[in-house]
Amino acid sequence: MPALNSLPASNAQEMSRALAQQAAIAARPRSCQIHLLANGPEPQMLVVNGSQLYHLPPELAARFDGARAQRDETLIGALLAENGLDAPPAIDDLPIRDPLPHAFSLAIAQKCNLGCGYCYAQQGDFGGPSKNMSLDTAIRAVDWLLKKTSPGGKINLAFLGGEPLANRKVLRAATEYAAAQATAKNFKLGFSITTNGTLLNEDDADFFETYGFAVTVSLDGTRKIHDLLRPFKNGAGSFDRIIANTAPLLKRQKCMQVSARVTVTPSNLDLPATLDTFIGMGFHSVGFSPLLNAPDSQGEMDAAHLVELLEAMIACGLAFEQHTLRGVRYPFANLLGALRELHRGTHRPYPCGAGAGYLGVSADGALSACHRFVDAEEGKLGDLVLGIDASRQNRWLAERHVHTQEPCRHCWARYLCGGGCHHEVLARGRTACDYIRSWLHYALQAYGRLSRLHPAFFSDNEPASWEWAPRPSAGLPENS
Ligand code: SF4
Ligand code: SF4
Repeated sequence: MPALNSLPASNAQEMSRALAQQAAIAARPRSCQIHLLANGPEPQMLVVNGSQLYHLPPELAARFDGARAQRDETLIGALLAENGLDAPPAIDDLPIRDPLPHAFSLAIAQKCNLGCGYCYAQQGDFGGPSKNMSLDTAIRAVDWLLKKTSPGGKINLAFLGGEPLANRKVLRAATEYAAAQATAKNFKLGFSITTNGTLLNEDDADFFETYGFAVTVSLDGTRKIHDLLRPFKNGAGSFDRIIANTAPLLKRQKCMQVSARVTVTPSNLDLPATLDTFIGMGFHSVGFSPLLNAPDSQGEMDAAHLVELLEAMIACGLAFEQHTLRGVRYPFANLLGALRELHRGTHRPYPCGAGAGYLGVSADGALSACHRFVDAEEGKLGDLVLGIDASRQNRWLAERHVHTQEPCRHCWARYLCGGGCHHEVLARGRTACDYIRSWLHYALQAYGRLSRLHPAFFSDNEPASWEWAPRPSAGLPENS
């Protein structure tokens, strides 16, 4: 492989294509205990139990590879034990029970002024009448969260919709109330908002800066493609309005962070150009999320599109690696998030906190597994008046544990992926496993390269390297 920090653009494209093709082959499921990576001078191996990554002498890697080729899990287990790489299971079959939520998303406005064809909230109203959350309901949600958290603990409040700024008055009053309560009762409190950007104004910029919001603006690419995918309800383009509205927020960003989130459909697969554009505009980070499930299938990614997506994601990843090796910040949220998870050795039985530490609250105060399940029977877990329905919640968590999912139980990526977004899996099944595993394979390789060539990037002395957008797992990007 040529030196990453001196790659001309045409080579980068060839390299990302070659790496994508290699990853697609190497990432195929062959063992539920290990995953092998040919990477630089020494082969590497992921031990699935505990998500540990090791450099191996080539002869030992060849022995593991041989056992894997024979599909001999008993031999692989024996080799792990012989080399001191075995350990008791880090994750057992027991689901989480009666967890206390520490994060709520409030569907503060179940309405929207845009008409995006792919919207999971069906243009903002979740298939029902348009409505706003009342301040009473928002305050009840905040009180409920505070009551369930010990003093000194951390809670998060996310405002989503629809378009949350369609109910600005309640959003602000709830924020002020929550901040005052957190100060009085000694809680740490984080705020976030996901907005379409069309209603933002200068005053919002001051407000979000004052309260240190993590602001995510949905943008699907440059003007032409964004306007096609995210028009106003009357069909007019929204790009110019959003860019103008976002400028005052991008200028502040001392306490607040403003990130761009791109929903990837077959029409906007030029990810490297989009990433460069939004990083150049000053977004704190930029993340991509493939559309796998739309209400009428409009804009969904099929298997061929996911092959293209992988190549584009790897191209972005190579650009990230090049910039990082030159000491230049390049906030590609998907890879930053994956590297962070890999460095921590994260292993998890769920893809995200949905239904456990994280719940969605509808405008009417119903509790659901997450923001995507608002007003959907299958994700319903209670309401703010009667509280969580513990039997429903525990059943949800038992049914969603990765050990109960097929084919996840035997997949080498299961503790990094967690089994895929519940909402997408329940609606469409698992349509992106090859993509997820291939992306993880690349991310593991990138982790190996960067830790060899630039170990300081992972040291505790460089917290700026770890700034990232919250996301559920190292597998698929956040679907929030
Ligand atoms: S959803 Fe994730 S864990 Fe399950 S089979 Fe697919 S890649 Fe593997
Ligand atoms: S990954 Fe899916 S299930 Fe989990 S919080 Fe996001 S949308 Fe909800």
